[in-house]
Amino acid sequence: MNADVIVIGAGLSGLACALTLRENGLEPLVLEAAEGVGGRVRTDQRQGFLLDRGFQVLQTWYPEARRWLDYGRLDLRPFYPGALVRTGGRFHRVSDVWRRPARLPEMLASPIGILADKLRLLGLRRRCLRGTLEDLYGRPETQALGRLRQLGFSEQMIERFFKPFFSGVFFEPELAVSSRTFEFIFRAFALGDTALPARGMGEIPAQLAARLPAEQIRTGCRVERLGDGAVLLDSGERLRARTLVIATAQAQTARLLGVPLAPALAAGRGTTCVYFATGRAPYRGPYLLLNGEGQGRVNSLLCPSNLSDLYAPAGQSLIAVNCHGAQHNPDALETALRRELAAWFGDRVRGWERLAVYRLPQALPVQAPPVPYPGGGEQRVADRLWVCGDYQCAPSIQWALHSGRRAGAGVARALLGRVAEHSAAGLRWPDDRPALGPIAGER
Ligand SMILES: Cc1cc2nc3c(=O)[nH]c(=O)nc-3n(C[C@H](O)[C@H](O)[C@H](O)COP(=O)(O)OP(=O)(O)OC[C@H]3O[C@@H](n4cnc5c(N)ncnc54)[C@H](O)[C@@H]3O)c2cc1C
Repeated sequence: MNADVIVIGAGLSGLACALTLRENGLEPLVLEAAEGVGGRVRTDQRQGFLLDRGFQVLQTWYPEARRWLDYGRLDLRPFYPGALVRTGGRFHRVSDVWRRPARLPEMLASPIGILADKLRLLGLRRRCLRGTLEDLYGRPETQALGRLRQLGFSEQMIERFFKPFFSGVFFEPELAVSSRTFEFIFRAFALGDTALPARGMGEIPAQLAARLPAEQIRTGCRVERLGDGAVLLDSGERLRARTLVIATAQAQTARLLGVPLAPALAAGRGTTCVYFATGRAPYRGPYLLLNGEGQGRVNSLLCPSNLSDLYAPAGQSLIAVNCHGAQHNPDALETALRRELAAWFGDRVRGWERLAVYRLPQALPVQAPPVPYPGGGEQRVADRLWVCGDYQCAPSIQWALHSGRRAGAGVARALLGRVAEHSAAGLRWPDDRPALGPIAGER
């Protein structure tokens, strides 16, 4: 087919870019190396289970996700706003009391942090919700851990809650990420639900891809080299277009552009997710369980089938155990996890069947300071060559989609001299769209 624009990569940024080009009347062709769309957001089917490629969630507040996705059709299943934290050999519930006010007495009495920490949460929340996102990303920056200490949070609160919870978001055990990145994500948790689509995270890119004509996405074809307005595929085929957009992750983008990447950036941040099957879930309700003991391999654990029974075949439950890093030996890790989790749930852990181990060394780019406002930044790297992707701004569903839309609008402006108003429209900040509602099965 004759394409106006070739988009390399069918992750969220590439798909949003292609859709924006179509909104502007241009014909994109998306070339994807993998056998399916979605990039880092994919779901595998195995023995009747749905296995997301690593623990990931949709934060429903993300303005860009609301723009692109039909939440109703995703059939979103929200987590409890908070978590169950394991510390001192017991689980303690931490709740977002703005969304679960009835839990305030429990929160005040909880051993997760001292009383002053609970008051400081008020200040942190106010800080994270204040102003536009441009304001948030314009504030003086430090590492997230340093910011929490500056705000006066106790080491106990940091070790028992902030580190287990947010290290699982950034895959950074010591919270060395930018304080701006931290405050952005805190805002997302505060203003919306954290949810899984009923049929897995892969439904998100599937929904986007379904809006493109089938002939505009080619999977299983890797771009090996770029020319002026042309790409060479691994099959030897050469394709031409008026403009190219590289929508791959940072390392592949650097390779295609022929530029070196600093080793620290090339390494990225890794995570490992071990899936187990069992006849009976080890706990009830839509909770995320956090390891707040300050030791052990487990970072967090969840039962996706507690949120949506489509994640497991009838009569079965799915357990996802998440660990930092991706260098683990799977068998040794499994043994260590069973031993550790026997202390959480008892001997029944022995009966769990290991389904899969996902080791994801490049799950996220490094997010250390400095992190500029993710909505800006140059995307045109040559006359007919553009780039987009989460590494360009901030790793998340929000900014990957935003980056793709911005690149699509930029290309449309360059090729047509105009851009459809809705494609170019700036983001609207924050609108407190109601959360998804009460949670079923809460204990
Ligand atoms: C385990 C995990 C958990 C996460 N959790 C969350 C979360 O809870 N919330 C959140 O907001 N974000 C989360 N993220 C981050 C989010 O998924 C990413 O920021 C986002 O999906 C990145 O999209 P992208 O389009 O920029 O890149 P990618 O998804 O990496 O897409 C790039 C695509 O380019 C393709 N490609 C590469 N090279 C070539 C080539 N030469 N030719 C053709 N195609 C090529 C790749 O196959 C890929 O499909 C998580 C990520 C991971 C891995």
